[in-house]
Amino acid sequence: MTPAVLYLRVSSKRQKEEGYSIPAQKKLLREYAKANDFKIVKEFEDDETAKNTGRKEFGEMVKLLKNNKEVNTILVEKTDRLYRNHKDYVVIDELGVTVFLVKENEVIGKGASSHQKFVHDIKLAVAKNYIDNLSEEVRKGQKTKAEQGFYPGGVPPVGYILERVEGKSTLKIDKTNKQLPIKMFEYYATGRYSLDSLIKKIKDEGLFIPSNFPHHSTLKTLAKSTMNRILRNHLYYGAFMWNKKMYQGSHKPLITKELWSKVQKVLNKQENRGAESKYNTLPFLFKGLLTCGECGRTITAEKKIKPSGKEYVYYRCTKFNKNCSQKAVNEKVIDKQIEDRLTGLEVPEETIDYITEGLKQSLNLKRTTEDYTRKNLESRKNKLQDQLDTMYEDKLNKIITLEFYQKKSEEYSQEILDLDDKISRYTRADINFYNFGSKILELAKRAGFLYKNATLSERQELLNFLLSNSKLKDGKVLILFKKPFDTIYQRASCSDWRRGRDSNPRCP
Ligand SMILES: [Zn+2]
Repeated sequence: MTPAVLYLRVSSKRQKEEGYSIPAQKKLLREYAKANDFKIVKEFEDDETAKNTGRKEFGEMVKLLKNNKEVNTILVEKTDRLYRNHKDYVVIDELGVTVFLVKENEVIGKGASSHQKFVHDIKLAVAKNYIDNLSEEVRKGQKTKAEQGFYPGGVPPVGYILERVEGKSTLKIDKTNKQLPIKMFEYYATGRYSLDSLIKKIKDEGLFIPSNFPHHSTLKTLAKSTMNRILRNHLYYGAFMWNKKMYQGSHKPLITKELWSKVQKVLNKQENRGAESKYNTLPFLFKGLLTCGECGRTITAEKKIKPSGKEYVYYRCTKFNKNCSQKAVNEKVIDKQIEDRLTGLEVPEETIDYITEGLKQSLNLKRTTEDYTRKNLESRKNKLQDQLDTMYEDKLNKIITLEFYQKKSEEYSQEILDLDDKISRYTRADINFYNFGSKILELAKRAGFLYKNATLSERQELLNFLLSNSKLKDGKVLILFKKPFDTIYQRASCSDWRRGRDSNPRCP
């Protein structure tokens, strides 16, 4: 058995209440010591919420470790329990001991392996994803809103304003501006107008009132693209598109569905007429994914049709022919490079197993420790529930007044709701945490295969997920991966980075 010391600390009242109390830390560390064959030599606790502030015990621990060279292991819950500042870091480092950050499943000092360093990298990525998942929860809230017919978008289109009704922002007809979209639809449906002549007609009739109030449309000028956007908007007949899906709105329509459909036919006809023009609006594969490696500008796509009738897609810098010497590059050239890169980087099965194992350990530990927090929340909730019941009895027995009961029960009920919310968020985020780990690995492993066999839109989705800010220079794509794929691929390309070979200087 390896001799070790435990270090425990709480620094704020909030930590104490959120399940990081000294007893909770103690329980965790003792269980860990037992499971991993550590013999606890001594336990040190600093409770900084007590009157006697400072870290007396920390100093004592350092003294013990200095004087007893056979003890060189510290078990602590997580990084911020042990270190308060850089100085603490240096003190521990100079002791030359090994620190086990139990909750983070990490080792600092002598015993740290590249495996542990790697798990740390992955965990950072997972932590970032955890945050993203919380915003995902927000998005889900918006979805519910959309299903109830409430427009979840920010600024409403011209002709509507947002008003708060019973706590929900609701679309209302903008009386000063509603004639603009109505007339636009009516005129355009006749088929006698182009977008240009329609703009003129609208302006001549004084229908265009520029507005930029906070809750109004920010329509300031009338351009062809604006006109197109208005005429294509489902909102005007009562539905709306949100997140690529159609919803039935709860707002009042300005026009009928028939009129809207008529306008779509005219628009489609006019757009087909212009289809031979050199630009078009096809969803180009690498749109928005590349920047110019010379000047940093966005790379745009354009389709060209050769006299033979063959179509080519080219990507070029937006400063092309001006301040940038980069030439246009054929889409196929870029496509081939990306495919080769993704295929070349397929992660070997062995590496996958290795990572999965490390991740599993890390996540299991996370679960045991977080269970404490959840249990704490649940017991707090049960306690409140009991108190509420008792108070109800007291009220019936006239021990307390009705006013007192009402005031208190409202307070408690609110707190119970808050706790419920916290508990459920925990559960959801936890599930995401687990799924995400295995998903990213699966994706990393199969990226090349998936890319080769995907449809255009699937390819786009895949690239958006994997790549960030890649550059195009002299016909070559400099591919940059998003986190954590950068780490995974970097590791995978280290040929001798394998189980049991921990120290490879090229693979930190
Ligand atoms: Zn450029």
